[in-house]
Amino acid sequence: MEYTIIGSIKDFWHKNHTWRIRDMVTLDTLFKNSILDLRLIDRLDEEEQQLRFTYLLRLAIDRFNGWVSIYFPRKHIFGYFATIYIAEKTPNVSCVVLPCDTIFRVSPIYIPLLYWKQLKVFHARLCPDKGLHLHIISQVANCCNISELGFHGNITEKEVLAIVEGLPKLRILDFSDSTLSSKALLMVLDGKLKYLYELNVLHCLIKDVDGKDIGAHMDRLRDFKKELLNKACNFKGLKKFIHCFGKSCEHCKDKSLASK
Ligand SMILES: [Zn+2]
Repeated sequence: MEYTIIGSIKDFWHKNHTWRIRDMVTLDTLFKNSILDLRLIDRLDEEEQQLRFTYLLRLAIDRFNGWVSIYFPRKHIFGYFATIYIAEKTPNVSCVVLPCDTIFRVSPIYIPLLYWKQLKVFHARLCPDKGLHLHIISQVANCCNISELGFHGNITEKEVLAIVEGLPKLRILDFSDSTLSSKALLMVLDGKLKYLYELNVLHCLIKDVDGKDIGAHMDRLRDFKKELLNKACNFKGLKKFIHCFGKSCEHCKDKSLASK
C-alpha cells in the first residue's frame, strides 16, 4: 500500500500531463485517513518528490480534517512554521508520535503542543537537552486527557519525577529503547502513578548510580532485578510490565555489539 502511494508520487514527475486527476487520487489516498502519516516523506529520496509531498500535504490540510493521529517522519524535518501550521490545523488529534529527536532542535515542539488540547497519546524521541524535556513534560501535563506517554531517549530521575508529579492519571508509560537510570526506573514503581496499567522498558540500557551499565556486574544486576520485580508485583493495578531483563534478548545483544 505504502509502496503504491510513493510510486504514485514518483510517477507524477514523469507523467506531468495528467497531473490534475493524479493529484486528487493521490491526495485522497495519502491523506484521507484517520492517520496523518507524514513518515511517508522519508521514502522519497529526491528533493522534488519531497516538495511534491509537502505541496499535497498543504492541500490536504486545507481540505480535510478529522485526523485522529499524526505520525511525524524519522528523517525528514518539517521546519518551525510548517510544524506549527500542521498543529494549528489539527487541533482535535488525540495521538501524536514524534519518532525523530531533531524536531526538538529545529522546531520546539512545546509550541505546537499548545494547539493539541485533546491529546491522549504522546510519544517522542528525546534529544539530549534535559531542560527542554522538563518543559515538554509540563506542557504535556497541561493536556489533562493524557493517558499514554512514550518517552524514548535518556531518562533520568528528573524526567520521571516530572512525569509522576505532572501526569498522575497515566495508564501507559513507554520508555522502550531508552537509557534509563536505575533510580528513575524504581521511582516509576513507587506508587504515585496510581492508574498505571502498562510499563514498557523493552530494550533499555539501565545505568546504575555510578553511571555505568548495571548489567556489567552480575551480582548488582541480580539484586536490582529482584528489587524491581518485587516492586512491580506489589504495584496494584499494573497488569503489563514489558521488559527483556533476564532473557537473552537478540535485539539488546546486537545493540551492545554495535556500540563496541
Ligand atoms: Zn532487549
